[in-house]
Amino acid sequence: MNEQQNIKEGIHKLKRTVLVVDDELINRELLGMILQQKYDVIYAENGRKAIDIVRRIPGRISLVLLDLLMPEVNGYEVLKAMQADPKLRKIPIIVLTSEKDAEVESLQLGAADFIPKPYNMPEVIMARVQRSIELAEDSDIILATETDRLTGLYNKDFFFQYCSKNDVYMPGRAMDAIAVNVSRFHLVNELKGRSFGDKLLCALADEIKYFAFQSEGLAGRGGSDLFFVYLPHCDSHEDFLESISDAAAEIAGEGKINLRMGVYQNVDFSVSMEERFDKANIACNLLRKSASEHYAIYDSNLHEKELFAEKLIHEVEAALAEKQFKVVYQPKFNIKGDEPRLCSAEALVRWNHPELGMISPGLFIPLFEENGLINRLDNYIWREVARQIKSWKVAFGVTVPVSVNVSRIDLLAPDYEQNMVDLVRDNSLQTGDMLLEITESAYTESSDRIIEIANSLRSRGFKLEMDDFGSGYSSLNMLAALPIDALKLDMKFVRRICENAKDLRMVQLMIEIASFLNVPVIAEGVETEEQYRLLKENGCDIIQGYYFSKPLPVDQFSEMIEKEGRKRC
Ligand code: C2E
Ligand code: CA
Ligand code: CA
Repeated sequence: MNEQQNIKEGIHKLKRTVLVVDDELINRELLGMILQQKYDVIYAENGRKAIDIVRRIPGRISLVLLDLLMPEVNGYEVLKAMQADPKLRKIPIIVLTSEKDAEVESLQLGAADFIPKPYNMPEVIMARVQRSIELAEDSDIILATETDRLTGLYNKDFFFQYCSKNDVYMPGRAMDAIAVNVSRFHLVNELKGRSFGDKLLCALADEIKYFAFQSEGLAGRGGSDLFFVYLPHCDSHEDFLESISDAAAEIAGEGKINLRMGVYQNVDFSVSMEERFDKANIACNLLRKSASEHYAIYDSNLHEKELFAEKLIHEVEAALAEKQFKVVYQPKFNIKGDEPRLCSAEALVRWNHPELGMISPGLFIPLFEENGLINRLDNYIWREVARQIKSWKVAFGVTVPVSVNVSRIDLLAPDYEQNMVDLVRDNSLQTGDMLLEITESAYTESSDRIIEIANSLRSRGFKLEMDDFGSGYSSLNMLAALPIDALKLDMKFVRRICENAKDLRMVQLMIEIASFLNVPVIAEGVETEEQYRLLKENGCDIIQGYYFSKPLPVDQFSEMIEKEGRKRC
């Protein structure tokens, strides 16, 4: 049995209530006698009382039998009042009249049927009453299964069906699929209560329904706080977003409620309705990361990027287990003396992917930083590096300090410091053998906690290098208080140091700051002899870049250590 039949069965077991409205007692009694074998009958002797009753118990009245000519408030006025009220509009009304003309007018006013006076054919009256009630209930049941109980919008499946019908009736009309979502709706519910959340959803649904109706479109509810709208194509729907945002603001009062809208423009009619709204939803979800943007248009390139990102994230665990991540080492040279001397290296990760080949960290590190996976990967890299430093020590009798990249998320992990201490001890290294590169932005974005952690690491003997210095907007004041052992200039200043006087000036300033802080300066991204000379002239201490060497696989870097080892600083 389907849901529709189920509801119908249940309803048929109940006894319906009929309201008889007539100013003449004899008529009320006559109708009451006819109806009471099958229905509960209640009475009103004028229009005002009738309106009172239906307003008080609208859900209990299955039908109204309404006399037209009554003193005070007549039947026409009752009809009009009930039609004007959305809650009462659904109650079927049968008009009682002896005038032919009145029948047409009352049907136009929304009456379901009429019964001529006098009441000399009880079985006709019963049949008409029964039929009107059944018709009204059937359409109610259809509405109940098609629409969402809270908002009255079509639920997802029926919405998709109506959208498909729309395509059939309007062939060739360009359409847009739109998804609307409330940002952090779960928080709205938690902070303001479920009934507020429901109220908000209803207000949004009303506005969305109204807008869709005005624009010859359709609206539906896709699930909790997700709404779908199918509208004729238009270059921008931002005015629509604005009008529903206004509706949300009205409900929210002080608290701000943000909405997101994703649009799949000019839908491809060969893909399923579900897929069209999936695309709108994908565009909508992309906005999740942004606090300031609320409107996005689906873009297949972006979608592919997302899918690629998901694939990489999905494969990390297996890649770790299969040792697909490789560490490469980029040498750093001290240029203070007459001849550059190898002094350390930076460990950089590469993903040797079985299908995609070598993937650069620029593609996956930001993804992993976003979802916390970076911690897993970096721990693996640090273990590899510590093991490697130890094996060089054994093979060549020298310690080559290696810097590793430490993300903000790594630092904030509660066991970070202890892990590093254990790692160094387990490989018989000194804490100073592993240099920790922390970007300037990590310091500035969550400074107090990071400074505390950095201080603690330094007290254990670890050396901290501030990476990408010049891009994170530290104030001079703050820099003086930061626990750091070296400044690593942001590559973008070094890149154009020879052509752009302003960039050269920036580098000179940063070198002055480092000398004020009494820490060495490292320049990375040095590709040409000219850049190297200029940096050396300006007092830079250490250089890393293609000019000396690209990042090298471990074997090649081992050869370099063997050759250069004796000259090391
Ligand atoms: P970064 O820490 O600023 O690393 C320097 C980047 O500059 C490296 O890119 C390096 O290969 C590149 N580079 C070095 N010399 C030159 C040069 O002369 N010219 C040019 N154009 N580039 C040069 P890579 O290896 O692609 O790494 C990109 C970023 O990914 C790194 O920037 C770092 O932020 C991150 N990263 C790399 N490995 C790891 C890791 O193991 N853990 C974490 N958390 N981040 C990593
Ligand atoms: Ca780095
Ligand atoms: Ca850097």
